[in-house]
Amino acid sequence: MAKRDYYEVLGVDRGASADEIKKAYRKAALKFHPDKNPGDKDAEEKFKEAAEAYDVLSNPDKKARYDQFGHEGMGAGAGGFGGGGFGGGGFTMEDIFSQFGDIFGGHFGGGGGFGGFSGGGGGGHRVSRGSDLRIKVKLTLKEIVNGATKKLKINKQITCDQCGGTGAKDKDSYSTCQTCNGSGYVSQVVNTFFGRTQTTQPCPTCHGEGKIITNPCPKCHGEGTVRGEEVIELKIPAGVGEGMQLSVSGKGNAARHGGVPGDLLVLIEEEPDKELVRDGNDLIYNLNLTIPQAVLGVSTEIPTVDARAKIKIEPGTQAGKVLRLRGKGVPDVNGYGRGDLLVVVNIPIPAKVNAEEKRLLEQLSQGDNFKEAAPTAGGNLFDRMKSFFR
Ligand SMILES: [Zn+2]
Ligand SMILES: [Zn+2]
Repeated sequence: MAKRDYYEVLGVDRGASADEIKKAYRKAALKFHPDKNPGDKDAEEKFKEAAEAYDVLSNPDKKARYDQFGHEGMGAGAGGFGGGGFGGGGFTMEDIFSQFGDIFGGHFGGGGGFGGFSGGGGGGHRVSRGSDLRIKVKLTLKEIVNGATKKLKINKQITCDQCGGTGAKDKDSYSTCQTCNGSGYVSQVVNTFFGRTQTTQPCPTCHGEGKIITNPCPKCHGEGTVRGEEVIELKIPAGVGEGMQLSVSGKGNAARHGGVPGDLLVLIEEEPDKELVRDGNDLIYNLNLTIPQAVLGVSTEIPTVDARAKIKIEPGTQAGKVLRLRGKGVPDVNGYGRGDLLVVVNIPIPAKVNAEEKRLLEQLSQGDNFKEAAPTAGGNLFDRMKSFFR
């Protein structure tokens, strides 16, 4: 299913302020809230969709990335990334309440509103989350143009195989946490601007788990994770660029005690090509012609990303002329077509000539077409260059 535009999901325009986005999300979230639509799968999907849109549009970094690259920039959608980003349904109801629970404010009874969901402190135990992992991936131009699948061996925290991530030696290795009596939460009364309110916080002793490991797993010493390696197959969509970051959800460090793993954040680096220069989605090739080739015309070969291509240079081709090979550039990362390959003609003048060449040139300069330089039609070279690249 094609992902809907986040602005469309929230029903705001692209120039909406942070406040308008928040209001729009609040409206959507209340409309599709599961408490109001029990058992309605469609409403639940809409509820999740709105949360996902809000997650991105309320975060200045994510919003900027989304505005520039669309869903692709978020690491989800068309480009693959099996289950990546939010695309694969990575956003659970629990995430939504723990991250945005506060937006519902008074309507659902404030902090403690959502029984069953951990965010409001309604009783569920807190789930730990592993840290994100950042890696860099260097790509050649060919890989960028065609898209690439990279197998990467990644050193990270992985789930301990001896205890299955629980951190406990066996199932009898637990005792109830005394600090929170097993609830995982402690209450605190704080004075705020609005008066005294009671907040619930994860228990500091058991980190919200409600129980303490009395007999830890000997391999991971009770953490549930150990240092290890994982081979990850990374599908990189065509058209990515230097500095772009892709996120693969759940492929970061494993969390302690079997929690939710972090994300793998992949920073793209471009390896400069020896012949082709990238300019956005276009590629530029500087073609050097000799004076006779430019005057008489020539069939020559130029590099493209896939193979060498033959092009014909017309007699009388001027320096600075740009030949455009449509669709031979870089595919747009969001699927909006493909750039061009621009062949820019350059005619280097030999800095030195030998006696024979000098004689021939002098003889040539007697010819009608070489006696004096012809005026340039249509403005000077600089103006023509400008108009080509605009
Ligand atoms: Zn273990
Ligand atoms: Zn506790």
